[in-house]
Amino acid sequence: MIEAATPGIVAKFCHTFGAELRRSFSLDVELQLPSSGITAVFGESGSGKTTLLRCIAGLQRVQRGNLSIRDDIWQNEQTFIPTHARPLGFVFQESSLFPHLSAFGNLHYAMKRADGGVTQQEFDRIVALMGIEELSNHYPDQLSGGEKQRVAIARALLIKPRLLLMDEPLASLDLARKQEILPYLETLREEIELPILYITHSIGEVARLANYLVVMEQGRVVAQGDLADVLSRVDLPVRLGEDSGVVVQATVVERDSQWNLLRAEFPGGELWIPDGGDALDEKIRIRILARDVSLALQSHDDSSIVNRLQAEVVEIKDDVDGAMALVKLRIDSTLLLARISRRSVHHISINPGSRVWAQIKSVAIQR
Ligand code: ADP
Ligand code: MG
Repeated sequence: MIEAATPGIVAKFCHTFGAELRRSFSLDVELQLPSSGITAVFGESGSGKTTLLRCIAGLQRVQRGNLSIRDDIWQNEQTFIPTHARPLGFVFQESSLFPHLSAFGNLHYAMKRADGGVTQQEFDRIVALMGIEELSNHYPDQLSGGEKQRVAIARALLIKPRLLLMDEPLASLDLARKQEILPYLETLREEIELPILYITHSIGEVARLANYLVVMEQGRVVAQGDLADVLSRVDLPVRLGEDSGVVVQATVVERDSQWNLLRAEFPGGELWIPDGGDALDEKIRIRILARDVSLALQSHDDSSIVNRLQAEVVEIKDDVDGAMALVKLRIDSTLLLARISRRSVHHISINPGSRVWAQIKSVAIQR
């Protein structure tokens, strides 16, 4: 888990591109990010995600910028550390492996940049983390898209960065390859003491990977905070519509083989979920979409819904023009969202502070 108190990355960039042109773009961001775990930068195409990353990497020099990584200043009024002198790893959408070098050739080349060198033990650990032992002698054109990205991630880690930047690393992979690589990114998040900035326009990747979330729109940060806090906002400026929903971190505590279900506990309650083969005690992320949550004043034992949780209404926000409303709920420290019609809100007459039963129609484990 992230310790909020640790000062991690502090960044501030303000710049207008193409001010002289009719179509200019302004980046105006201020970020305070944790010093470990995955921070997802989420936003539509053209919202300025890559530009932000280029500023952090020093590839884009802007008039007004401040950047510090823990105690190191990379940019302020007096200082501008050039890209090659910044200890950072970069993974792009398209792998940028050298085609004339084998997988391990690529790794060895990168290690020359590592501060203080890389021990055999460190090399073996990273190769094992990315599961690329068997690929050592393969050339990039002999690797699948997913394998190339795993080698590219290992290469980025072997320069011993203090910050890992990933710009839509899965965007050019098909669904099967994405599924193949996601567990490696989870391992990275859990095992490596390194802040990772992960750009994506996929809310599924955010739900699965992020600890911390930055939402960008038109060059600005419109929300930032812990994943659960940002996803449970009823006033998120970016309309997620049918994708609105939260991610609940839970632990598998029981297997019901007869009905093919697992019981998972989270702070404040438990959920029965379809058995996907997860082991007991395993930590899982459960995505609960707001549209799958309905509300009732009483607990209905006769309903087909398995998961009913007692909750407190925290906040209600009507769609400005539509028929729907978003209701934020609290179950102990866990936050949920329900998307129900404004008429239903009126009908069951709920307000902040009301006690309700949240009925969850279906849940999905993020994998
Ligand atoms: P995203 O990665 O979120 O899709 P980008 O950061 O690539 O968005 O682009 C955001 C906007 O910034 C685009 O409209 C792009 O044209 C503009 N932009 C980025 N860099 C420059 C530059 N050096 N000069 C002019 N415009 C730029
Ligand atoms: Mg981009």
